[in-house]
Amino acid sequence: MLTTAMAANAYDVALENFDTAADALGLDNDTREMIKYPERVLTVTVPVRMDDGRIHRFEGYRVQHSTVRGPGKGGIRYHPQVTLDEVKALATWMTWKCAVVNIPFGGAKGGITCNPKSMSKGELERMTRRYTSAILPLIGPEKDIPAPDVYTNSQTMAWIMDTYSMTLGYPVSGVVTGKPISLGGSLGRNEATGRGVFYTIQSACEHLSMSLPGATVAVQGFGNAGSIAAQLLHEAGAKIVAVSDSTGCIYNRAGLNIPELMHMKALCGHVEGFPESEPISPAELLAMKCDILVPAALENTILAENAPAVKAKIIAEAANGPLTPGADRILESKGVFIIPDILCNAGGVTVSYFEWVQDEQHLFWEAQDVYDRMERVMKTAFRDVLKIHLEQKASMRIAANMLGIGRVAEAVQLRSIYP
Ligand code: NAD
Repeated sequence: MLTTAMAANAYDVALENFDTAADALGLDNDTREMIKYPERVLTVTVPVRMDDGRIHRFEGYRVQHSTVRGPGKGGIRYHPQVTLDEVKALATWMTWKCAVVNIPFGGAKGGITCNPKSMSKGELERMTRRYTSAILPLIGPEKDIPAPDVYTNSQTMAWIMDTYSMTLGYPVSGVVTGKPISLGGSLGRNEATGRGVFYTIQSACEHLSMSLPGATVAVQGFGNAGSIAAQLLHEAGAKIVAVSDSTGCIYNRAGLNIPELMHMKALCGHVEGFPESEPISPAELLAMKCDILVPAALENTILAENAPAVKAKIIAEAANGPLTPGADRILESKGVFIIPDILCNAGGVTVSYFEWVQDEQHLFWEAQDVYDRMERVMKTAFRDVLKIHLEQKASMRIAANMLGIGRVAEAVQLRSIYP
């Protein structure tokens, strides 16, 4: 488990980063008032008949932060620590993220406070369908399009797509992304977030004149985002020396065999006990002497308290909000190059956009098309953010926020206020 508590409120962090970037942009107050806060916030009760016959009440949320540049877009998280503030923060980051990679979506997010690991498949399906039914007035291919996030996956998306389609009376594949391929999913979507993380690390290495082959890497969180990033880094010749998941952390100075570790994680559900590795603590992983640290679990894992111990040269934020502003300041003063979440993990939403386009057109692309288009989008976004970072002497995080917030501000100013 993490030793670092969920100390900071993620929504406070999102608002603080907004203010800093808006100040740097010289944004007027009227525009700030129009784009800073969520447009819609929905809290729903989700009663579920559990396998033992009892009815258990879960609380769920869907937040649409912005639909200024297009339909709301953002994942759905199932986790015991989900709160409304966390969902509001994640929805806010989605708005700036979609604008950073310049795709025509706004920002949204959803979640249910639950412990999916203790639930059966049947319970998860009933919970997902009832939650979908409760948020149904908000979602739709032209309105708001959910996707997977922590502890949700393509099966969850299939249940949402089916529930929505059965209610409307016809199949609507574009209501969610991250679907199975057989239901209109896109090739490359499952590995898109990790692949995008990899592209931004490649760009950062180029910028810093650092060699990726031979570089040492620690990855916190070996799920969808973290394991694919680790796999691609491994294939590029980097050495993944430490990896963790919610059950434990493992280490091998010579480099872990990532394909075999992925195989074991798929079979057993954990990384602990992997052959030719030794256990370490979560704090040791974050403080590991390595070139690249990839936080790929949850928010607020690197705080002002543990940031001084970080020794990595690059931090690639595969997770959303893993660093607090206090940690940012310490790491920047140490000269750590941070690839901020709204840039680093934007590959997921970029391929979600491609999936939505393919669903709308009923025309599907080859995997290589997806990778090529995505690489162009990610590397262009990296260059755009780096330019602001260098020209305006802003941190990479504030530069990314300036790019995203600036684009949303321009759109809202052009649309003006209704009525
Ligand atoms: P996932 O459920 O596939 O994986 C999460 C992983 O984190 C699991 O291996 C879990 O064991 C591990 N984990 C949980 N708590 C941990 C802890 N305390 N310490 C170490 N590891 C822990 O989720 P994911 O989709 O890979 O999402 C991970 C992060 O990436 C989240 O912040 C999510 O918002 C972000 N993200 C995901 C996507 C996507 O497309 N999946 C896109 C953008 C951002």
